[in-house]
Amino acid sequence: MNIRNHAAHKTIILKLDSLDNDLAELLRAFSQGMNHTSQIVFGIVKPIGSGQIQKLAYRYLRDKLNLKSQMSCNVARQVSGAYKTLQEQVNIEETEWQLLEFSPTSATFSFERDFGFSKDTLSITTLTGRKKYKLLNYAYAQRYLDGSWRYLASKLCLHRDGSYYFHLACEKYIPDKKVTDASTFVGVDVGINCLAVASTTDKKCKFFAGGEIKNHRNVRKNERRRLQKAGSRYLGTRSSMRLLRNLAGRETRFMTAVNHTISKRLIEFATENDVSVIGMEDLTGIRKRMESKVSQEFRYEHSSWAFRQLQGFVEYKAKEAGIAILYVNPEYTSQTCPRCNHISRNNRSGLSFRCEKCGYETHADRVGAMNIEHRTRDLRYIFESQGGNVSPPDATRLFA
Ligand SMILES: [Zn+2]
Repeated sequence: MNIRNHAAHKTIILKLDSLDNDLAELLRAFSQGMNHTSQIVFGIVKPIGSGQIQKLAYRYLRDKLNLKSQMSCNVARQVSGAYKTLQEQVNIEETEWQLLEFSPTSATFSFERDFGFSKDTLSITTLTGRKKYKLLNYAYAQRYLDGSWRYLASKLCLHRDGSYYFHLACEKYIPDKKVTDASTFVGVDVGINCLAVASTTDKKCKFFAGGEIKNHRNVRKNERRRLQKAGSRYLGTRSSMRLLRNLAGRETRFMTAVNHTISKRLIEFATENDVSVIGMEDLTGIRKRMESKVSQEFRYEHSSWAFRQLQGFVEYKAKEAGIAILYVNPEYTSQTCPRCNHISRNNRSGLSFRCEKCGYETHADRVGAMNIEHRTRDLRYIFESQGGNVSPPDATRLFA
């Protein structure tokens, strides 16, 4: 069984009780160091590595500014990185070579080398040596300081409110749950009235509404219609093409934002219900399926890329949460009776589902998710009967 690990990343904002002037002094020295170093790289007119920067600026950083050696390393690394990013933008002609300036509002620290924790206290290296600062929001931060997270390079920041905060970057490795050990599943259906419906093994159900989106899309559709009605004289001109392109771009960005939100809420729902496997439809043949499921009027609103994007978001967010994904056969999921498996178009009428054979009744939008959950659970038994030799990532794209 090959179990892969996935890292979860988080930045925890810790508020510091800072009564002295040391942090202000430190940020001032750090930004001075950054700006001095920046002048050097700017003059060379190409990005250079942090080792080289160190050599050129060492005297100034250490002797003049009194920065500790780890801190001057951090200055060099950060400036080097900033100019590399600038060069990438220059290469694609987004901007031109310029002097980068840094304000005295943040400084970078490396775990153990120049920061550490003991209980509710942060200790960091300042210009006058190691100093301790009490965390004002320790109650919130406690669970990230219990030793289960690994700390990465983090930042001391001066916020607009005039207080000092430590932006603690941390990560944690989360092992995948095994599909064959799973007991709670959730089926996720992408729908028309609702963007997604989720149903768990113990019959908990959640609708992820699409009303907002329908509204938004109607506005866009009207804009597009108006544009098309404007007549052939305008249509096909450069500005009309640009306008259409802009509309499409806005729509793409909008759907992407919506998909991010829905996938996030979906993972929250799965985590709250202790789900270890999420089942979704294999949408390889989605166009065909949508044609039977969606009326002509709505068809264009349900572009397959948006569904695939949603699934992709769910997939990577599930991985971070240690939840496996299985894809199941999407055929007849909306027409099959979740109780007796009888398949018929007549089982559905509008928003209600009533099995013509056994009389089972429920909300029509829920049926797809329930059937997907069943098929996902069936897949698990297939794996088990094969000796449980399939790990979650390899199991994707298999059919029930
Ligand atoms: Zn039935």
